[in-house]
Amino acid sequence: MRHFIISYKKRPLGESGESCKSDYDLSKACVDCGTGAKLIGNLRVKGFSNIKKDFFETLDGDYIISTRLYNLIKEYFNDFNLLQVIDSKNNPLDFYHFANNVTLPRFKKDSTGFVIDRQCQTCKRNGYFTHTEIGDMEKNIPTVIHPYIFKYDKTDFEKYKSELILNTWECFGLSNKIATGKNVIRYARPLTIVSEKIKDKFDREKLNDIEYELIEIE
Ligand SMILES: [Zn+2]
Repeated sequence: MRHFIISYKKRPLGESGESCKSDYDLSKACVDCGTGAKLIGNLRVKGFSNIKKDFFETLDGDYIISTRLYNLIKEYFNDFNLLQVIDSKNNPLDFYHFANNVTLPRFKKDSTGFVIDRQCQTCKRNGYFTHTEIGDMEKNIPTVIHPYIFKYDKTDFEKYKSELILNTWECFGLSNKIATGKNVIRYARPLTIVSEKIKDKFDREKLNDIEYELIEIE
């Protein structure tokens, strides 16, 4: 069974999470930055009323799946259980939060495709970013986005291989546990990894807005 990091390639839609006052459990999160905060219950969202897509990412970096596609996938996998998203008045909407609480161990040291910037020195878990080399149009140098090449130890990965959705331990972007000045409360998100079983269903539904990058198990 192969597993893939997913990235949403189109413009993100709607808001979610911290900015919509979703509840987070900080008991296992970093005491300084809040990375590792765990969503409690349903993801609260804003600005979803005109969205017709089956799968998308919000501006806050959460993945969302339509009720239609969720039900379709659920027909194949009984243990595929997601939570419905809710609006500011706690009304359930016609979408589910595409997420799981299972987190992989750290990737191997020779993994590539990322840079680390302004990382919290307490947890060293956030501050990961895609490795992008900005080009120069005048000098004809194209922008290069390096692919993620994430490697995991075969023995470590064994117990995760049947999971449909996984999180990386490493969290992308910055975290702010406390709002100060211009900084709003924000918890860096892990990357989402899906099993080939999910990719197959997405491919069959012709979801063309997702890029998949195979993780290496060795
Ligand atoms: Zn931290």
